[in-house]
Amino acid sequence: MAEYKTPMLIIGAGPAGYTAGIYAARAELNPIIVTGHQPGGQLTTTNEIENYPGFVEPIKGQKLVDDMRQQALNVGCRIINDTITEIDFEAPPYICSSEKHNQYQSDCVIIATGATTKWLDVPGEEKFRGWGVSSCATCDGFFYRGKCVAVIGGGNSAVEEALYLANLASQVIVIHRRDSLRADKILQDRLLNHPRVTVLWNTVVEEIFGHDTPPAVAALKVKNVKNDVESTLSVDGIFVAIGHIPNTGIFRSHLDLDQQGYILTYPTGSCQTNVSGVFAAGDVVSGNFKQAILAAASGCLACLEAEKYLAQLK
Ligand code: NDP
Repeated sequence: MAEYKTPMLIIGAGPAGYTAGIYAARAELNPIIVTGHQPGGQLTTTNEIENYPGFVEPIKGQKLVDDMRQQALNVGCRIINDTITEIDFEAPPYICSSEKHNQYQSDCVIIATGATTKWLDVPGEEKFRGWGVSSCATCDGFFYRGKCVAVIGGGNSAVEEALYLANLASQVIVIHRRDSLRADKILQDRLLNHPRVTVLWNTVVEEIFGHDTPPAVAALKVKNVKNDVESTLSVDGIFVAIGHIPNTGIFRSHLDLDQQGYILTYPTGSCQTNVSGVFAAGDVVSGNFKQAILAAASGCLACLEAEKYLAQLK
């Protein structure tokens, strides 16, 4: 158990957290970044990024976030692998306690905890998670070379996962609950023109079946929501890409959240939460588009607003 004191505590180590840390360290605010369970956040499970400015060729998500971490360390951030489990936002200095029984005392806090994968919540999904049910094509796609896989969802994540898998699998079936995708047009075009991809429109997954020994996915029960016709599809794997849930559990009774649990900021577009000196940045904030570049920009803004707050505090 250790006690840390800092003018600025940053919770979360994705693009928002690292950017806030880089700005804070360069402003000589001696920030501490507490990483949480998935240092690097969602970028660690993103294969290639081609829309983050400054990289002529696509860059691996893991590489981008590793470089952000190194940059944060180079400018003087302290990065601690720990997870905040309890907070006291009654009055500054704010106290955050952690899984490793450490205590962090800070004049201001930037929350950059991001969001995590949403699951379908259908029978068989939990049983076969890790045995054919995955949320990360770049992590698990390798196991499905020459096999048939299903991807669930119609957003950018689902289409990117499907395109990645189409390079490995013999067949990719995208299952989407509506009759149009919400993914970017350029990705839609690539998907719909790919010879190994089929899209099942207006279709939902009802159950996942498989073998017990060794555990492995074998089939899906799906339903067409337009005509209620059910059918069974033989698949070797299923990749769920239906969005995210904000990582705001510990803030629920302390901060204003929207209906989905994302943090509200005042005024909209700023990073200030309803608690003075507590800021939020990146995917955890209500209404933010989930883009790494926007998360980074939001981390920058949170730090600049926090700097102003700290100056007033003095
Ligand atoms: P989105 O929220 O954009 O899409 C989720 C998809 O899953 C939607 O098509 C939704 O259907 C569907 N869905 C949601 N819940 C269910 C359910 N219970 N059952 C079946 N289908 C469901 O999430 P993404 O993760 O795709 O993207 C999040 C953000 O990140 C977006 O802003 C996206 O643009 C961005 N992103 C950008 C990338 C890039 O630019 N390279 C890469 C990946 C993500 P419906 O359409 O009917 O709501």
